[in-house]
Amino acid sequence: MKAEFTEKLNKLVGRKKSNSMYLINMSRYQDFIREVKEIKNKLNKDFEDYKMLASYDILEVNGRERMIQPRNEINSTIKFYVPIEELFGVLHTIHLLFKHANKDVMEAEIKTKFCNVSKEVIKIYLTCCKTCQEKIYCA
Ligand SMILES: [Zn+2]
Repeated sequence: MKAEFTEKLNKLVGRKKSNSMYLINMSRYQDFIREVKEIKNKLNKDFEDYKMLASYDILEVNGRERMIQPRNEINSTIKFYVPIEELFGVLHTIHLLFKHANKDVMEAEIKTKFCNVSKEVIKIYLTCCKTCQEKIYCA
């Protein structure tokens, strides 16, 4: 199932070619973390630097540095950016945790924890789940 998902995802990535944080690969993800850390250590930050820090922050989780959305008083929950390589794991865990959750449940759940997982990616994931596909055809 992971192979099928990865193949479909790669097609989507090939079509998109955008610089957005959606569908960011691991090497760009690591570059971003480095860049954000450098900016944080800079003494004289410019406008662009502040713009970066308004969108990205770093949090160490189990010894690994993860990119998150900066928190503030209003938005205090941690939301993670997910690199492409980890999308399957994230989606699969939520899907099974909620007993083959449908699109709406997955979207709602993902929105509370992650900030760069698109609806399109969730749909692709669901087309790869044999159990869910069978449910649709048998209904
Ligand atoms: Zn399923």
